[in-house]
Amino acid sequence: MSFASLGLNAQLVQAINECGYTEPTPIQTQAIPLVLAGGDLLAGAQTGTGKTAGFGLPMLQRLSETQAKPLANGRAPVRALILTPTRELAAQVEENIRAYAKYSGLRTLAMFGGVSINPQMKALGGKIDIVVATPGRLLDHVSQRSIDLSRVEMLVLDEADRMLDMGFIRDIQRIIAKMPPKRQNLLFSATFSNEIKKLAETLLTNPEHIEVATRNATADTIAQRFYGVDKNQKRALLSYLIGHHNWRQVLVFTRTKHGANRLAMQLDKDGLPAMAIHGDKSQGARTRALSQFKEGKLRVLVATDIAARGIDISELPHVVNYELPHVAEDYVHRIGRTGRAGVKGEAISLICFEEKPLLKAIEKLIKQTAELEILPGYEPLPDSEQPPIEKPAPNRGRGGASAGNSRGGQNAGRGNAGGRGNSGSTNKAPRSAKPPRRHDNG
Ligand code: AMP
Repeated sequence: MSFASLGLNAQLVQAINECGYTEPTPIQTQAIPLVLAGGDLLAGAQTGTGKTAGFGLPMLQRLSETQAKPLANGRAPVRALILTPTRELAAQVEENIRAYAKYSGLRTLAMFGGVSINPQMKALGGKIDIVVATPGRLLDHVSQRSIDLSRVEMLVLDEADRMLDMGFIRDIQRIIAKMPPKRQNLLFSATFSNEIKKLAETLLTNPEHIEVATRNATADTIAQRFYGVDKNQKRALLSYLIGHHNWRQVLVFTRTKHGANRLAMQLDKDGLPAMAIHGDKSQGARTRALSQFKEGKLRVLVATDIAARGIDISELPHVVNYELPHVAEDYVHRIGRTGRAGVKGEAISLICFEEKPLLKAIEKLIKQTAELEILPGYEPLPDSEQPPIEKPAPNRGRGGASAGNSRGGQNAGRGNAGGRGNSGSTNKAPRSAKPPRRHDNG
């Protein structure tokens, strides 16, 4: 199957060739002809499947086939809008589409918060065909009248499930109200909750439905490993794994912003250059950390799920779940950051006693059994000697995760309630060129 045989024109095929894509991915094979035909689409596909080209290429082709009439004020109209949940994803999608548009004469603009609005306003003064935006910043532009959505011909909701999780539904509805009713709508989502189905019903007209959502879960390019370890040993084990295997680029997931900050600081102290990205960091700091990581100057990037959504690092070799996500689907999203486009990747999960129920849910979802490996020197206490699990507070934002976190990894003073203290740590540590660091106090 070639891109040309899907009906894409020569300019696009050339741009794709220059991106190094030789054949379409499954989502592209399915989505491209359907979008070219002009109908609405409901697609089950997550980041990593090649979905951006799946909607971006036919979008570019359709837009290049017709000329848009100027707006009443003489300006060229915005013809397509792609909404994404996060700034990182907006930046990345725009970057990809810009590459695909190289020979199509269509212009793109990324628009997100956390950076000055002025350059975006200035750009909107010129010809912009495709806007890739997060909902909040787009609405800022709408209210300042720097953007006119009345001529949008195509709308894409990218990672729609995540947008709903993040509470963007009202914003999305306000944005839709600014667009003409007659347009092509594409909705991409990794999961299909009732909320998503409701949104799809109101947004889409006779949509075609395609699905490749589980690709990452079963991708045989991702080797998944699971280490059983006590919570207060996780950081030491992580430092050891990174040093021992000499991993040069590893993306580590924590559950909370606070946990991400602390872990990055501790790894840095361990001599492993690390930075954290999460929603509380300024856009500048996030972009800086991400680009240093991509350039290989930063060895470890610690991220929360939301900040990492959609991060695309080509050939990212290692992903670590420092803590398992509460939602099993997020495991699939996380490990989907590695093993992309046929390149081999490894996903490591550090599992402590209280995470075993979460692991069960993940096993069910990925339809695989997780074999727990135990590293000498990092043996967890037997289940019968584990301290009672602290019940997370009902409010997800506050107690739950952070309560768990505050015990995680570094409170050596307290050790774990089983009172193992440091026995058998340094002396039992595995022999290796680089001895593991076991200073539990961080
Ligand atoms: P996406 O799911 O759109 O975020 O794409 C995931 C990654 O796959 C990106 O780095 C794309 O550049 C890459 N990609 C997309 N389509 C192809 C393809 N047909 N062949 C190889 N790589 C691709």
